[in-house]
Amino acid sequence: MADLAALALEASTCTRCPLAVSRTQVVFGDGDPNADVVFCGEAPGAEEDAQGFPFVGRSGKLLDRLVLEEMGLERRRDCYTLNTVKCRPPGNRDPKPEEIAACSGWFDAQLAALHPKVVVSLGNFASRALLGTTDGITRLRGSVYPWRGISLVPTYHPAAVLRGGAQPMAEMRADLVRAKLVVEGAHA
Ligand code: URA
Repeated sequence: MADLAALALEASTCTRCPLAVSRTQVVFGDGDPNADVVFCGEAPGAEEDAQGFPFVGRSGKLLDRLVLEEMGLERRRDCYTLNTVKCRPPGNRDPKPEEIAACSGWFDAQLAALHPKVVVSLGNFASRALLGTTDGITRLRGSVYPWRGISLVPTYHPAAVLRGGAQPMAEMRADLVRAKLVVEGAHA
């Protein structure tokens, strides 16, 4: 935990990429450093940039509800949440490859300080970055992947579920149940 707090402090003045100029603040991560479950999104949006915490806008509210209903967990208290890129890309554009590369050291150090049983990657961007593939989320989701000695469960980004309706919602719920079974040691 001390490691994570020290990292957050160090990251708060990061200038490894040009997003440092346009951000309000670094959105490092949030939640229980001892959590079994880590959620990983893409990059902070406007609300996150303003408040300094990941997934505090509309997507975050949906994520909170689904995590509570399917996993029985309060996301911000019982889990840890981070993004692959820690600073808001202006206008919510996709992060650039060089920004992802510049930020990956923070992500790796964070993961080393956390000891989750499962990482749930939210959406195309995070799932591709973590699994090192160009496959899309529709193809990737529905499975549990061995990853860095733990398990990775890719699922939709909650923003896509907000747009997409009943089917992605049901599939995201099923993925969260998958992640819960991993934590319980019940996943084959
Ligand atoms: N979308 C993300 O990918 N991350 C956030 O923190 C908020 C919205």
